[in-house]
Amino acid sequence: MEIKAYAKINLGLDVLGSRPDGYHEVRMIMQTVDLYDTVSLERGGEGIALTVSFLGEADSYPAGIVPDNEENLAYKAAKLIKETCEIKEGVRIRLQKRIPAAAGMAGGSTDAAAVLRGMNLLFGLKLSDKELERLGVRLGADVPYCVRGGTVLAEGIGEKLTGLRDAPDCVLLIAKPEVSVSTAYVYTHLGEDTEEYRPDIDGMRKAIEEGSLDGILRCMGNVLQSVTEKEYPVIGRIKTLLEEAGAEKAMMSGSGPTVFGIFTEKEKAEKAYRTLRESGEASQIFLTGFIRPKKEEG
Ligand code: ATP
Repeated sequence: MEIKAYAKINLGLDVLGSRPDGYHEVRMIMQTVDLYDTVSLERGGEGIALTVSFLGEADSYPAGIVPDNEENLAYKAAKLIKETCEIKEGVRIRLQKRIPAAAGMAGGSTDAAAVLRGMNLLFGLKLSDKELERLGVRLGADVPYCVRGGTVLAEGIGEKLTGLRDAPDCVLLIAKPEVSVSTAYVYTHLGEDTEEYRPDIDGMRKAIEEGSLDGILRCMGNVLQSVTEKEYPVIGRIKTLLEEAGAEKAMMSGSGPTVFGIFTEKEKAEKAYRTLRESGEASQIFLTGFIRPKKEEG
């Protein structure tokens, strides 16, 4: 069984405060993008066997950044579902990475979600999407969203999901600079100087329901951007480059360092792609768009 594990961007990311358990209370508008890892699953053996390989710009993954052992979120997802559903039989997982790692695109979380969905079908477990989401949050705050996909308002620590109408089509340029960013570092350094980066989440929700890309662009914002950009000025440089090349808006996704630019014209986006390549500022670049993933069927 082969499953596409799609990446996400945050069209809006707001942090409301921190909780005693160390998590943060967030409000985010999540969007699946047409960029995916491939997760192949096969029943057999006894334990969990995992192999990891890298597609595309493979030398952009720093050595060891994606673990090929029990630390990998795909492995953890398989272990969790094996234990929860008391599955004795083993599973072989082949993970082909294309999504930039430690990049703010939920690369690990989406692999975990793909394993949950895939094993549910492969072993005939008949768990509902809600049950998979509830299992997913034990692996990470973004996993429930990755189980579901599409255009979604995520609240709580990211696990309270409200499905929205599909965001209107656009052309998306995604650029990952060479640096890797730890999500935990960014959240612990989040200060008070975030006001200018705040998204208007309610305004964006309304714009999405009205199918207005202009409205979405006006409401975009990511409070984590100030923290990561201070540490890595390359983020600001890529944003400026994309906007000068004709992006309607450019912003950092999640805790970064990936930056995305939203374009309404394909030609402008293609030209920006070339300019960005020549600049050498980004090590992984993708020209893509929004997508609503199709559900796999058993
Ligand atoms: P998010 O947007 O959810 O914060 P991210 O894109 O910032 O995620 P990931 O790519 O998920 O970050 O990687 C974060 C860390 O998770 C990596 O440093 C890596 O060590 C670990 N990891 C575990 N499993 C995976 C996986 N399958 N793919 C990528 N990274 C993984």
